[in-house]
Amino acid sequence: MPESRTEWIDVATMATGLDLRLAVHVIEGAHDGPTVGLTAGIHGDELLPVEIVRRVTQSIDPAHLHGRLLALPLANPLAFETLTRHTPTDMHNLNRVFPGTADTWLSERLARSITDYLTPQIDVLLDLHAGGAVPTVDYVYALNDLELSRSFLFPTMYRGSSYPGSLGTHVIETRGVPVVVAEIGGGSQFDDSYLERGVTGVLNALRHLGALPGKEIAPPRQTLLTTMQIVRPRHGGILHPSVTAAQLGEEVAGGTLLGVTRNPQTFEVIEEFRAPFDRTHLVLVRGVISKVHAGDYAYMLGDAGSAEILEAG
Ligand SMILES: [Zn+2]
Repeated sequence: MPESRTEWIDVATMATGLDLRLAVHVIEGAHDGPTVGLTAGIHGDELLPVEIVRRVTQSIDPAHLHGRLLALPLANPLAFETLTRHTPTDMHNLNRVFPGTADTWLSERLARSITDYLTPQIDVLLDLHAGGAVPTVDYVYALNDLELSRSFLFPTMYRGSSYPGSLGTHVIETRGVPVVVAEIGGGSQFDDSYLERGVTGVLNALRHLGALPGKEIAPPRQTLLTTMQIVRPRHGGILHPSVTAAQLGEEVAGGTLLGVTRNPQTFEVIEEFRAPFDRTHLVLVRGVISKVHAGDYAYMLGDAGSAEILEAG
């Protein structure tokens, strides 16, 4: 029976007495097909993916869907409330504690509740992320199904392993089903463009999977990075960028100044960030003046020299 409904995953009672629970939008298709998990909001400061999930779920007519869609738009409501990457209650990063536990911190209970519900059911996982409140990011992981990752149509891809303790890693290790992790926008930069690309990417991936009818859009020429450097500041302060989010996906020459961090009290420059590779592909940048902590994400930079070029089609 084709239908759309909302199911709730019960997690715990908060100290306030309020129930912590997670909404899952379940779309039962009229035709046989795969069960697709679509997740967002694992990190609370990544808002665009939540909106992408809303637009995708509301655009799908169950009568045309093959299989089922299980869409979890806000996996960490606690972190969303404070617009933080980590869960404020216990300071854990939800995407490092999967599969979680049933009897420890809230982040681990969230993880366990999500995996108990989602992992056994799904034939594929599409997990959406963004750069967060400040950084802007633009790439899709090529983890265990290159063609499915390509079907997101993003210009930059990265063949790397996903993080231990992430939902994607958990699903790959326990189920071995295709997983795509997409990193889409953030930092309030070019939101309209990233929303459109995100929705288009997810819908095209669903066509690729045979979950939606219609002809799949062939992928464009894509850069598949195999070496990526995450640049984390050694010192906190105010980071003044020298590159913009408009340059994501572009290359800069080795040694190019990407930004500097100044001490906000003495004004001295305490750190310089420079392109590490002869041909440095910009994957994540801080495009606006921002506060950074030591150890934060400042840049993600790919080595264009060792990248593979995937031709269009
Ligand atoms: Zn994330």
